[in-house]
Amino acid sequence: MSELEDAYGLNELKSRLKEWKAILGLSDWDIKLEWSGYEIACRGDQAQVFFVVGDQTATIKILHPEARPPDSSTPYQDEDDLMHELLHLVFVHQRQQEGTIESVVFEQALHKTGRAIVRLYYEARFKNSCAKEPDHDE
Ligand SMILES: [Zn+2]
Repeated sequence: MSELEDAYGLNELKSRLKEWKAILGLSDWDIKLEWSGYEIACRGDQAQVFFVVGDQTATIKILHPEARPPDSSTPYQDEDDLMHELLHLVFVHQRQQEGTIESVVFEQALHKTGRAIVRLYYEARFKNSCAKEPDHDE
C-alpha cells in the first residue's frame, strides 16, 4: 500500500501520534505507524500493535480506510484506533491471556477509555476554536 502512504491523512495521523505520545507519557517509545490491509480486516480487527517492551519499540498498524467493511467507520475512527493501541503500551505490563473473559473486558475498557479521551480532546479543541472567533454583527 505504499502508493497510498500519504493518502487518507496518514501523515496527519503521525503528527497526532507524536502529540499523544507526549501526553500519555510514551515519549521514550519509538513507535512506527502504518496502514494495514485485509490481513487484519479479515480477523475483524481495526488495528494492531506489535511491540518489544525491553526495547520500547512498537509498530501500530491501522486498517486502511479502503480495506474497512462498508459502513464500519465512525467519526475519529483512525484516532480512536490509534489511541486504543497506544493505551495498550500505557498498560503494557497488564497483559491478558488472549481469549479469556479478562482480555475481553480489558479490550472493552481500552476502547471506551480511548474513545472518551479522543472525544474530550476534540470537544476542547472545538470550544477553543469557537472562543477565538472574533465577534461579528449579524
Ligand atoms: Zn486492543
